[in-house]
Amino acid sequence: MYLSHLECSKTGKTYNASEVHNLSEAGAPLLARYDVDRAAQTLKPVNLKGRRTDMWRYHEMMPQRDLNTLTTLAEGGTPLRKAVRFKEAYGMENVFIKDESVNPTGSFKARGLSAAVNAALERGVTKFAIPTAGNAGGALAAYAALAGAEANIFMPKDTPAAFRIECQSAGAEVVLIDGLISDCGKRVGELKEKNGWFDVSTLKEPYRLEGKKTMGYELFEQFDGSLPEVILYPTGGGTGLIGMWKAFDEMEQLGWIGSERPRMISVQAAGCAPVVKAWEAGAEKAEYWNGAHTCASGLRVPAAVGDFLMLRAIRESNGSAIAVTDDEMMHFSNEIARLTGIFPAPEGGAVLAAMLKLKEKGDIASDERVVLFNTGSGYKYLEAFQR
Ligand SMILES: *Cc1c(COP(=O)(O)O)cnc(C)c1O
Repeated sequence: MYLSHLECSKTGKTYNASEVHNLSEAGAPLLARYDVDRAAQTLKPVNLKGRRTDMWRYHEMMPQRDLNTLTTLAEGGTPLRKAVRFKEAYGMENVFIKDESVNPTGSFKARGLSAAVNAALERGVTKFAIPTAGNAGGALAAYAALAGAEANIFMPKDTPAAFRIECQSAGAEVVLIDGLISDCGKRVGELKEKNGWFDVSTLKEPYRLEGKKTMGYELFEQFDGSLPEVILYPTGGGTGLIGMWKAFDEMEQLGWIGSERPRMISVQAAGCAPVVKAWEAGAEKAEYWNGAHTCASGLRVPAAVGDFLMLRAIRESNGSAIAVTDDEMMHFSNEIARLTGIFPAPEGGAVLAAMLKLKEKGDIASDERVVLFNTGSGYKYLEAFQR
């Protein structure tokens, strides 16, 4: 166990990591901090070879105390696939798709929820609640089912049926809300105390971030000990973007890399683009996005508590933020399927659409190593593809 404490991302105040926590007193996300010097003695690239292939291979920099009691469906360890036909199609020679759709429950939410559920179980939690725009609910339902814990899932009532059905099938309690994920979050906030639920909203507990950061460690291994020049990430709550940014800092402290970083590009839907709007305005945090709409459920997030952390990572990495329309997303989701054989979530199509706009503008060169995150499977979004 190398986890040493939690730290407020706003004030730096420290918290005891053996207790359960949501936000800090300043209302900001708590970040997990480790004894990195000690972790570095065994967590070395050369030592990784014979290890388990899921995300727990980086266990020194993960919160779990006892690996023998892990609740796991083998999340993480996803393939990085070179999109070789993007050369003929788009003149892009080195585009790679990090295919998160092969995770348990069909999205990278499995990484975050596995880490969060395990950490909470180790601290005595047995009842969970979550607001979700789609995939997070399915992931919580699966890990709760495996652990024999209770899952209470709040989702907008217009979320596509697949997201609701998979939760109910796993025995979760699903509450449909006439509103957006932010309204679902409010409901969870109102009900959690009286029901004894632990709220695993993204970034409102410290460990979903720890699960998603493992994508950063995996990229380092998959690029043979280096990082790509550009990462395009479909952004809702921003956990993966902030998580990978944290992973890169940790990897520098571990002595794996130097100060070089990929340019982090946040991609959002034109119908819900609070981070893009804030980025364009040069703001440090985002404003609530009114009337959020997009078929990419994972991007229908009008406000994110980690907005300032995302904007900081984008700025420090020399990256940017860009929005694409639903039509563009769906067109390029089909392009990914046609050119790579991966059936992506619309969020995956969004990053390809964004990459091509940035290439057009001269912001991405044709020979740079670019990673597109396909964060989920297309199978849960059949209505969107049908339209
Ligand atoms: C949740 C989700 C996202 C957004 O992820 P964040 O890390 O919360 O920004 C993107 N794509 C899919 C498919 C998702 O389920």
